[in-house]
Amino acid sequence: MKQGLLLIISGPSGAGKGTIYNEVLNRMPSVKKSVSVTTRAPRPHEKEGVHYYFKTLEEYQHMIAAGEFLETASVYSNYYGTPKKHVFDLIEKGDDVMFEIDIHGARQIKKRYPRAVSIFVMTPTFEILEQRLRGRGTETEDSIARRLGSARNELSQYELFDYIVFNEDLEKSVESVIDIIKAEKCKMKTNEQRVKALLGN
Ligand code: 5GP
Repeated sequence: MKQGLLLIISGPSGAGKGTIYNEVLNRMPSVKKSVSVTTRAPRPHEKEGVHYYFKTLEEYQHMIAAGEFLETASVYSNYYGTPKKHVFDLIEKGDDVMFEIDIHGARQIKKRYPRAVSIFVMTPTFEILEQRLRGRGTETEDSIARRLGSARNELSQYELFDYIVFNEDLEKSVESVIDIIKAEKCKMKTNEQRVKALLGN
């Protein structure tokens, strides 16, 4: 019986986790993307079912009440959640699924599924994080200060994570995450059921 991995990538806004996530998905077709549900409005380039499933607050609350989420969190005044069914269908098939989620979501998943593999992406320093947030040109002073405050708070919860990737160089960080996934796939615990089946146990 081959079961897929649950992979979490998290980290402060501006650390580069989204870019790393997309690049890992491009290079490892065996790793599937988990499409989240959100109440925030779509950005111009975003497509329904590709980037997110966009819902009204009322629809989202219905989904919570129906127990449809693996985790749900409020991030910068919008709701975001991981729908359960799709993820478990993939895992049961033996696919690996990767989530790009905030730290509250990471904590909920780790609590329910301790075998989930959690990766935290951080810039080498807070100064670099600030430069990257400014470089986006989309954040107000207020939002930069808020995001830097959150970053410190998130980093202080580092023990929640199995791996920490300091994103100094994008290419090296992408390779590190790919190496982590490859190693996790060969772990004894990942393969225990398969070994037992071979042994006829
Ligand atoms: P954005 O609005 O820029 O797409 O995402 C904002 C934040 O929400 C990011 O930190 C992202 O990791 C987080 N996020 C996206 N999807 C989910 C989800 O399903 N659950 C949780 N907990 N956070 C999410």
